[in-house]
Amino acid sequence: MTEARAPVAWSWGAASAYVAVHVGCLGVLVTGFNARNLLILLGFFTVRMWALTVGYHRYFAHRSYAMERVPQALLALLGSTCLQGGVLWWAETHRRHHRGADTPEDLHSPHFQGWFYSHFGWFLDQQHRETRLDAVRDLSRFPELVWLDRWHIVPFLAATLLTGWTLGWAGVVWGMLIPTVMMWEITHWVQSFSHCFAGYRRFETRDQSRNHWLLGVIALGEYHNNHHRFPGSARQGSAWWELDLGYGSLRVLHRLGIVTRLNVPKELTPP
Ligand SMILES: [Zn+2]
Ligand SMILES: [Zn+2]
Repeated sequence: MTEARAPVAWSWGAASAYVAVHVGCLGVLVTGFNARNLLILLGFFTVRMWALTVGYHRYFAHRSYAMERVPQALLALLGSTCLQGGVLWWAETHRRHHRGADTPEDLHSPHFQGWFYSHFGWFLDQQHRETRLDAVRDLSRFPELVWLDRWHIVPFLAATLLTGWTLGWAGVVWGMLIPTVMMWEITHWVQSFSHCFAGYRRFETRDQSRNHWLLGVIALGEYHNNHHRFPGSARQGSAWWELDLGYGSLRVLHRLGIVTRLNVPKELTPP
């Protein structure tokens, strides 16, 4: 089912950056494939994916746990290296997705806006690229977050320079570019496939969200149907086999006192 929407005005700047990072991954032809590079990939992907799921998603978009201002700023800084836009932009557009998931109001529903648009078209559309600061006042009251949102490219460029300086071109390609594309693919998949294809639905929801187990494990605990049923939960895995390393890390941070409150409904706590 598709519905008429405003004509797409592509952001050629964003599209060029998107293509450039993909092309940069061809650097593997120069740096080669070896155990050291795989370790770089694993390390950088894990840390940055953690910042994306635990930081951008579970903290800034859903406020599913609480922390003080300094760790909050550090989390936004680390999350900005994922190259998925500013932290306030990400939180605001994602909250809009939840409010109207799989309705004509959704920003990226494969049922209404088409598969390609929901997969990777919507964020290249000029009409969705502005950060609506008024819509995320709980976050935009912090000037450091507003600054990071506006200059979100800076942490990515700084991290890339630092990685290149310390680990050489292998660090840039295997630590920065390839994990960036992997995280994009994971996010794209959630926006399109996880609302229309295969997987399983643990909970009845008004939207079409579904869990994809392997994706959930790789994404450090993103189970999209569980999440749409309980968006305010810090935990997304429900059964023991729905591995949720993101939530595991939050429990450790809670014990250390860095996380001051964790929201987990009893329905997501295995007996
Ligand atoms: Zn969704
Ligand atoms: Zn969400």
